[in-house]
Amino acid sequence: MPFLYETHMHTCQGSACGRATGREQARVYRDAGYTGIIITDHFFGGNTAVDRRLPWEERIDLFWRGYEEAKEEGDRIGLDVFFGLEQNIHFDEYLIYGLTKEYMKAHPEMEHWNRRSQLEEVHKAGGCVIQAHPFRMRDYMDRIRLGLHFCDGIEVANAGNDQMDDARAWRYGREKGLLMTAGSDNHCGANWPLYGVVLEKRLTNIEDYVKIIMKKSSVQLHIPEGRLEFADPPVIDERHKALMLDEQEREHPAEKEWIE
Ligand SMILES: [Zn+2]
Ligand SMILES: [Zn+2]
Repeated sequence: MPFLYETHMHTCQGSACGRATGREQARVYRDAGYTGIIITDHFFGGNTAVDRRLPWEERIDLFWRGYEEAKEEGDRIGLDVFFGLEQNIHFDEYLIYGLTKEYMKAHPEMEHWNRRSQLEEVHKAGGCVIQAHPFRMRDYMDRIRLGLHFCDGIEVANAGNDQMDDARAWRYGREKGLLMTAGSDNHCGANWPLYGVVLEKRLTNIEDYVKIIMKKSSVQLHIPEGRLEFADPPVIDERHKALMLDEQEREHPAEKEWIE
């Protein structure tokens, strides 16, 4: 029997752009038949709801609130709820799974990790890193940055992306042999398309999910039919041209656009 999970979603307690509480989100996913969800609020490099002037430990307590409320509700209604986070480096964003609250409280330097230390330190802590929606381009961003060397896989399908972004990500992921996941990036509860991953075994904790990612086991995607194809002929203007980050995190033109 397969088990359906959300891998990328937000609450208004942790994310400034969140429109639904952890409790509301848990109910939406239980009603939609999901086995579980991973809450990935915007961390302090991104659009966090937490006041950056507060002392570190208090910030971590506040950041965990959306997850904790969702978990409490999930325990009550029969939905598994796990913790993750989404960090923004330079408009390239990373979903991080497997960190505990105790770890985060003990590591205030994590707020300033670059991409390389993020990957190394998260691995040391027993977690994993997925680049979220790598080909997304939005008004608030300047360029697309591909962190090939700084992740354990990519989020190939994201319900908040233009379809073209996902179609490009799939071609990029296939070429580079990357593990690929899907998520909804749901900020608002109901009335949002729900994506996710389908797993053969039920997760007992977030470490089980980290193991699947680190083993590079291919993951079945819960996405609309045809989502990874180009709906319209892709138009790549200057801003949609991808930058590749080298191992020193320097930017270079990618020299291809993954539209074939
Ligand atoms: Zn957001
Ligand atoms: Zn997100």
